[in-house]
Amino acid sequence: MGLMKLTQNNYDHDKQIGYPFEQEFKGKKIKLAYGESMVMDESEAEEFLGTMNAVIRDADGQFDPRSFKKFKKEKVETKQAEAPKAGEHICQACAYEGTSSKDIEEHIKLNHLDQIEDPEVAEALRNKKAKLK
Ligand SMILES: [Zn+2]
Repeated sequence: MGLMKLTQNNYDHDKQIGYPFEQEFKGKKIKLAYGESMVMDESEAEEFLGTMNAVIRDADGQFDPRSFKKFKKEKVETKQAEAPKAGEHICQACAYEGTSSKDIEEHIKLNHLDQIEDPEVAEALRNKKAKLK
């Protein structure tokens, strides 16, 4: 479950003013000025948006825009360092991504024989290569 940023967005374009917002939610008073934002759990945010404030009507029976509930929703990117996809068959030398360990082995033989630091490993690969011929 991610996080959701809710920005209070109740703006009256006719009057060109933003209204403050106030509501009791789960026993807590939520009070936000226009443009102010808060971060909630996604599920809680949906729940919060689903609850209605009593809409107030003015003397003419029109909805009072001050009682509107308008929020801009934005998912919060949780920057948990995503573990690099455990590439099972990645070439350590050039990050070539092979389809199998065999593929990687072939790739190394073709491209990096001279770069292999361990001479025994290099030799073993050379011998293997030689055998294949
Ligand atoms: Zn490579």
